[in-house]
Amino acid sequence: MEFIKNGKRIDKRLPNELRPIKFEVGALERADGSCYVEHGGNKVMAAVYGPRAVHPRHMQEANRAIIRYRYNMASFSVEERRRPGPDRRSIEISKVSREAIDPVIIKEFYPRSTIDVFVEILQADAGTRSAGINAASVALADAGVPMRGLIASCAVGKVDDTVVLDLVKEEDNFGQADMPVAMDVRTGEISLLQMDGHFTLEEFEEALQLGKEGCTTIAEMQREALVQKYQGEGHE
Ligand code: UDP
Repeated sequence: MEFIKNGKRIDKRLPNELRPIKFEVGALERADGSCYVEHGGNKVMAAVYGPRAVHPRHMQEANRAIIRYRYNMASFSVEERRRPGPDRRSIEISKVSREAIDPVIIKEFYPRSTIDVFVEILQADAGTRSAGINAASVALADAGVPMRGLIASCAVGKVDDTVVLDLVKEEDNFGQADMPVAMDVRTGEISLLQMDGHFTLEEFEEALQLGKEGCTTIAEMQREALVQKYQGEGHE
């Protein structure tokens, strides 16, 4: 498969270009915080509940809130119908996504509580864990959960021996490498980094740099979406 022609990718993007991204803050009425994200062909909803009481109670921590994160792919979100319910992949993604957002949440403010994050993938086109983390991060802020910053995430990879930002499904499935990254762009702290495939050391460094730039752009969009919703509020 040929991925790059005349310097352009299969969806006409440049190697260092993100897909179009749109955040809608507070899309759900019944959640404490929510965010709907469209990221290229991905459509993702994140809902946050809490801080609230922990059930079952034996899971509670005396000095801090616990964070629970459920990533779920709808059966209709992918080309080949997915069997509903958790599988190895979604359990793994839930775990790494929880660890990705955890460092910015000030858990000590809410002992014996839980903050529950639900991420539903309604339509998938590669990079769903990143889109989910981006949505979750904004939904947490929308819920008023105290945070040190926002976590932004995107994938980088390699196709036709070229390092590219934000893979589409064909690039993810048939390319040479796929590396999702999540970070707090204020501190530069990376809270998720996974890799499928192979990079040389130079390619890895180039990919990491490109990933950081992608996260910086996304973090600005997240901030912008929150400002849009909340500017003016609290002054009446
Ligand atoms: N995918 C699929 N069926 C599945 C799982 C994944 O069609 O059961 C597709 C989907 O488009 C997904 C992509 O493969 O976004 C890449 O999946 P991966 O496991 O790399 O996670 P992601 O890139 O979505 O975080």
